[in-house]
Amino acid sequence: MRDHVKPPYYYQSMDWEKLVTEYEPPYEFMTGTRLWDRDRIVATQNQRLVDALQRAATVPFYQKLWAQHGFSPADVRTIDDLHLVPQYTIDDIRDSIERQPPFGDYQSHHFADAATTPLRFYTSGGTTGMPRPTIYTQWDREVGAILSARTFYMQGIRPGDAVINAWAYSTHNAAWIMDHALWHWLGAIPITTGTGNVTPTEKQVEMAKLYGAAAITATSDYLLHIADTAKRMGIDPRTDLDLKTLLSFGDTKAVEDVYGVPAYDSYAFHEVQYVSAECEAKQGLHIFEDAFVVEVVDFETGKPLPPGHRGNVVITCLYKTGTHQLRYNIQDISATYEIEQCACGSWHRRMDYFRGRSDTMVKLRGVNVWPEACGKIIQDHDGISGEYFCYVESVLGRGGRTREEMTMMVEAQTTAADSPGLKESLEKLLKQKIGVQINVDLVDRDALRPLTGHGDRAKLKRFEDRREAR
Ligand SMILES: [Zn+2]
Repeated sequence: MRDHVKPPYYYQSMDWEKLVTEYEPPYEFMTGTRLWDRDRIVATQNQRLVDALQRAATVPFYQKLWAQHGFSPADVRTIDDLHLVPQYTIDDIRDSIERQPPFGDYQSHHFADAATTPLRFYTSGGTTGMPRPTIYTQWDREVGAILSARTFYMQGIRPGDAVINAWAYSTHNAAWIMDHALWHWLGAIPITTGTGNVTPTEKQVEMAKLYGAAAITATSDYLLHIADTAKRMGIDPRTDLDLKTLLSFGDTKAVEDVYGVPAYDSYAFHEVQYVSAECEAKQGLHIFEDAFVVEVVDFETGKPLPPGHRGNVVITCLYKTGTHQLRYNIQDISATYEIEQCACGSWHRRMDYFRGRSDTMVKLRGVNVWPEACGKIIQDHDGISGEYFCYVESVLGRGGRTREEMTMMVEAQTTAADSPGLKESLEKLLKQKIGVQINVDLVDRDALRPLTGHGDRAKLKRFEDRREAR
């Protein structure tokens, strides 16, 4: 028999009043933090930034990174000094894990600490490379859940709603933090279907109808697939379901067209949970500025860019305690907006929608090509399902010289054989818009699912680098 040890009870392990005072839950947020003026936002950010730097200063990962760059947290007094903090990318996280497997040296807590304070553990979806482990403290889970709940409330979820959660309940954080937000901070009921691999899409449609679901949370791609499936089952997503809103991720226009209810976009990633969310005005994504400072920097130089210029998103998270994200260059592409009051009344700064990953950028004969941009170009073309997958490879050209070519595999609406002239038409369109030849390989409908992870992955995989290592 092992010794008796009293667990750290969840309900006793945190100052709940402090939590809801510092990070307002959705109902209070709508008339509170959401309407703060710029002075209050900036004053809060200044204080929380200094605190966040102090917390990170105890973590070996930051101690090493900052020492290398001759940076001291004492150099930062306000967010105007933020540019002094060295940036890092996923490559630094990978190095950290290699240096000290399997957790890296960027965590503030280890599993054994769960004996004295509640901890949770998730890993990244591994869109590219090895999974990144993240240990979350109770504080991190609760603030993250509050930010998620604010997103859902702003986007139309209300207490008493049943919500189909079609994200993967897996080692990845996404489905879990949404579940937590719906249950603990919104008085809503998550229906825990998970993805199509766990609960077949037909079953998800049946459950949405049977239980009168008010919303579905899923990627736009999967929401469109659910609608298609419903129609094949003789269920009209517009009239036979009781949906009020859709919590989407990606192209919301197409989703609204098929369901006939509002669909909202947002931006989140595994370590920090929801960063920004679309409001009813649908003019960009409001950053939760009491919890984050978002910068957008030049792809090559890393220098902060003015509003309206696309670059890499750099995240500074102000609330985390388990792992810290201070000027984390996440390599997602977006832009900031000018600071101004939104039609919804909020002064929280807005950012542009997610425009793809910059680490999938390929330089073809001097032209920067992004797979997601290629997808946008062809999306409204007749005869295709909208699904695509790009790869780049080195091929032997004339004179024995290798050249790099990109091929875009595109799903036909039906079968590739039934679509004469479609390949040529798509190639012409891509050449015209991008200025460089992209080969199109037309495939049958649904053939790309194993490659993209459609219905399974949080962010669909759109690209593979098949070039030999140089
Ligand atoms: Zn707004």
